[in-house]
Amino acid sequence: MHQIKFIHIICTEPRIQKLYHDYLVKNNLFGEFDTIQYENPILDFLNPNKLDKMIERIKLYQELHGPDKIILFDHLDCGAYKKNGYKFSSFKNEVLKHQENNEKVVEILRRELLDMGVEIKYIKINEQGKAVWINL
Ligand SMILES: [Zn+2]
Repeated sequence: MHQIKFIHIICTEPRIQKLYHDYLVKNNLFGEFDTIQYENPILDFLNPNKLDKMIERIKLYQELHGPDKIILFDHLDCGAYKKNGYKFSSFKNEVLKHQENNEKVVEILRRELLDMGVEIKYIKINEQGKAVWINL
């Protein structure tokens, strides 16, 4: 078995790709993680019709590669949030909603996958359209 440490869960958003790539390079992570990547997969943990499939997928990766940590890469100004009907009155309101959702997801992950660590990393798109990390 090729043993790895992480499962990354990340949106397909093109504007965050370079930041994410640079993070992988800087932390020497190529070959060290499984990825679940499509239009904000984090939201699917909150969808009762999709949750089981997500947990099943993570368990499969655990079986195949033995990761023990999930990292949620969440970005603001996400098209998948819009597609799911979210409307935000301000940037602050958007941040709060993401945090609220992500905390629910962390709870679900801790409940369903007792042996996995979970971490959330936040990315915002700045006024120049550039992705940057933010600490929340
Ligand atoms: Zn997105």
